[in-house]
Amino acid sequence: MDYLPLFVNIKNQHCLIVGGGPVAARKADLFIKSGAIVTVVAPELKTEMMHHLAHCKIIWQMDEFSEQVMNDIQKPKYVISATDKQEVNLAVYEYCQNHNIPVNVADQTEYCDFILPAIVDREPMTIAISTGGRSPVLARLMKARLETMIPNGFSKLTDLVGRYRQKVKDAISNEDGRKVFWEAILQGSFIDKAVHGNADEAEKILDKRIDQAAKYGQPLPEGEVYLIGAGPGDPDLMTFKALRLLQQADVVLYDRLVAPEIVEMARREAERIYVGKKDKWHKVQQEDISMMMVELAKQGKRVARLKGGDPYIFGRGAEEAEMLVDHGVSYQVVPGITAAAGCSAYASFPLTHREFSQSVSLVTGHQQAGADGVDYARLANSGDTMVFYMGVKNAPRIQAGLLKHGMNPKTPVAVIEKGTTADQVEHFCTLDELSEMLEQREIKPPALIVVGEVIKVRDRLMPGKKLFKAA
Ligand code: SAH
Repeated sequence: MDYLPLFVNIKNQHCLIVGGGPVAARKADLFIKSGAIVTVVAPELKTEMMHHLAHCKIIWQMDEFSEQVMNDIQKPKYVISATDKQEVNLAVYEYCQNHNIPVNVADQTEYCDFILPAIVDREPMTIAISTGGRSPVLARLMKARLETMIPNGFSKLTDLVGRYRQKVKDAISNEDGRKVFWEAILQGSFIDKAVHGNADEAEKILDKRIDQAAKYGQPLPEGEVYLIGAGPGDPDLMTFKALRLLQQADVVLYDRLVAPEIVEMARREAERIYVGKKDKWHKVQQEDISMMMVELAKQGKRVARLKGGDPYIFGRGAEEAEMLVDHGVSYQVVPGITAAAGCSAYASFPLTHREFSQSVSLVTGHQQAGADGVDYARLANSGDTMVFYMGVKNAPRIQAGLLKHGMNPKTPVAVIEKGTTADQVEHFCTLDELSEMLEQREIKPPALIVVGEVIKVRDRLMPGKKLFKAA
């Protein structure tokens, strides 16, 4: 290790910044946030440092750095020099070396007794990242990654856990027991309740678990199911929450529409189970999947159920949730980007547009999923942009239904195969050509059929590739 990471208490301690520019102001900010009394030595202050001064966060010693100035101010515990004059930086460094004061010259590791890490601030939890001064940019990128993985609510969680530390100590006398207790609590559904829910509810859960532990020994690990919308294909379209829950799962259940790269994002040791459904066995298998989730959760496992798109849009998510409720298993639903949103964006047209369409219908094209009940008369006269899911096989019916009820045969249609993936293919035609095009081009599921004038907007967004005559 190049440096020993330490968290130092500098509350009410004197610290010194030499320099009045933006870099100096950023460093001053760290001292200020940590509760130090900050003196700034500089002949002039730029806007950012002025801001600190205006808010009474710093004491300004309006002067060039010199031994004399150092005699005039309180002896600092730590010094940072951030000026663009190298001779000043070196003078500060030398002074500090001679007087045994730890010093940091900004961006010059060779003149640093300590370095300042990139910080993920979830006070009181603080994560410090250092590359040993080799690449501040890399440290910042790593910080960005961690920021996305650790929700803001971790501040609340850490606070809450801190407040309960003594209570748990009183209830569970041996140290190993306490460790097991906290591990069970901090890996279970409590975390999400404390981070996202209200504090009272989280406290109630903790109180209950402490009582149980005191009366009956250690709590059993608590299983949970996450119904996660994995988006339409491109792994980048997962939400932060989807990724976070996926990465804390012990078991991952996924089906056909979920990209392999997304399944890969789970923890290495997580068990991965493919539950892709085949049409013929739809019904039986759906129940099997739900029961599998119930059983795994009852064993104390955290189960991620990955679903293509959004779990509540033609994803049978609610049926699975209902089964979980029936069996008393706790669950969370993570919304995902549904195929309609993903495919239209990646195929360069919107679903609504002030000039073309004021509403959207998401429609099933699959008979078993209810296509028999689709009201083509209403759709044909609605002005909606229509998005047919699972519609490839039934395209001739969709086409006939809409035409029969008076829809303009020249209405634009887009068919998007494997949307948002590297294999995305877009096809365009008009409503009267739909069946023929699907057959000729041998279009296969998963594909989305979009019908509506709004597709013409694509011509404006891709002027080099105009499809329609009078857009
Ligand atoms: N819950 C999913 C839909 C599941 S139904 C969602 O919200 O997107 C399955 C149908 O979704 C497929 O038959 C197809 O019509 C559509 N679909 C899903 N992913 C798709 C993709 N990447 N490209 C095109 N269509 C897709």
